[in-house]
Amino acid sequence: MADTTSAGDYRITITKSEKYRVARDGNPDNILGRTAGCRRLMYNRMLNATKTRTNKKGKYTWNTPNYPAFLDKENENETYLLEVPKQVYAQAFVDLQRAHQNHANNPKHYGTPKYASKNRRESFRLCNTNIGGKHAEGDIRWLDSSHLRIPKIGAIHVIRHRNPPAGAIIKNVTFSMSASGKWFVSVCYSYEISGITPAPITKNLKGIGLDYSSQHLLIDNQGRTADQLIIELAAAAHNGNLKGTPRYKHWYRENESLIARRARELARKRDSFASKDGVPVQSKNYWRAKATLARRKEEVANRRRDFLEKLSTLVADAYDFVCVEHLSMKQIARRSKGRGGYKLGKSTCDNGWGAFVGMLRRKLLERGKYLVRVSRFFPSTQLCHVCGHRFRGADKLALSDRVFSCPVCGCVVDRDLNAACNILVEGTRILFSQSSRGFAFPGLVWDGREFGREQARSGSVALDFCVVCWWVCCFSSFLVKWAFFVVFG
Ligand SMILES: [Zn+2]
Repeated sequence: MADTTSAGDYRITITKSEKYRVARDGNPDNILGRTAGCRRLMYNRMLNATKTRTNKKGKYTWNTPNYPAFLDKENENETYLLEVPKQVYAQAFVDLQRAHQNHANNPKHYGTPKYASKNRRESFRLCNTNIGGKHAEGDIRWLDSSHLRIPKIGAIHVIRHRNPPAGAIIKNVTFSMSASGKWFVSVCYSYEISGITPAPITKNLKGIGLDYSSQHLLIDNQGRTADQLIIELAAAAHNGNLKGTPRYKHWYRENESLIARRARELARKRDSFASKDGVPVQSKNYWRAKATLARRKEEVANRRRDFLEKLSTLVADAYDFVCVEHLSMKQIARRSKGRGGYKLGKSTCDNGWGAFVGMLRRKLLERGKYLVRVSRFFPSTQLCHVCGHRFRGADKLALSDRVFSCPVCGCVVDRDLNAACNILVEGTRILFSQSSRGFAFPGLVWDGREFGREQARSGSVALDFCVVCWWVCCFSSFLVKWAFFVVFG
């Protein structure tokens, strides 16, 4: 999601995707599968014809011919390639260029582009064209509440569980097939929210500090876990009616044995076998087992996302600003517990904290509220939230110390509760200091001095820079004028 905020009237342009399920009859003759296949073929042809070179200085360059070079209108065997909207190929070209660019920029992280395979995720993307033309909505548009028009493909029957935002323009659509064989379409909307008035930043604002917890997802500054928080907020929001409120679970761990059993069943099957006349025959049981395993994993992910979406909505509704720590989930997932002990990867990934913070950010922005990010170098665990005493050096709390006991004021509290209180205090400080400088816009607020690298990307620091530039410009023009007066009288 991209967002831009303008300081004056708080008009926010939001780019947001909604993912809809394609109905069962929405894919006649496997038109989506065929289109994805054509895209894959074209991508691989373009990649095959790409000339790459690494020069003596180690700079990676590439030259990719565009898709029209591979569309032969005369070739009768390839007429199927012409039945697909050309936007699909154009986007495949864009994807390939991006893959090369990524590799050139960061070869350690991104390898050389790989051929698209049928066994990986099937998908294709189209950009909307002719917006404001004959049809104001463009070539890709809703025909009614459940039919999406795609050029050349036609009307696709979609289960539209939610109406598009008012005044939204469709920017692009991405069709993708999940591992269990269901087709989905992500419709990317761009729309403007105006008329929201962000609450003025005063001491009356209601804030909450959230500390990440491996076991409970989070602990807030009142010591509530994610499970207690959702129950309390849902009861307050729906007058005590808790129907449909999900509970926090270790979703993956609960289903782990079942997933393992399904995986074993799959491992015992073969995808194809040779018939009597030597022609390979696809095994139905193999694909059935594969879909069952994929469905089981999908279910786990869906339950997790449902919980996170509902919790983030309740938190965004109930509070004016939310303070969280800026964590590297990748680093935490790699960290091992104890000496040579097991790693925290499974628990960390099962929580979905990163996705939760992303949801919070989006929802708070839409409501004109603030997500305050506290630096990861802020010692939230090592500080006493009562007297401010800080553990240093050898006295530092280890990950296994679950209780914080202060030697100065004698307070004994849960370690995560203490951290959450510290995060709230520090987040409040950041919000007020950014507000006094005029940099607190709805959405993400953070200390501009957090990281050198991210400073350059941050809007607030860019503004800082502009202010400096403005002063330099004013001063230099004043000097020029003054010199002019001195010389020419
Ligand atoms: Zn203390």
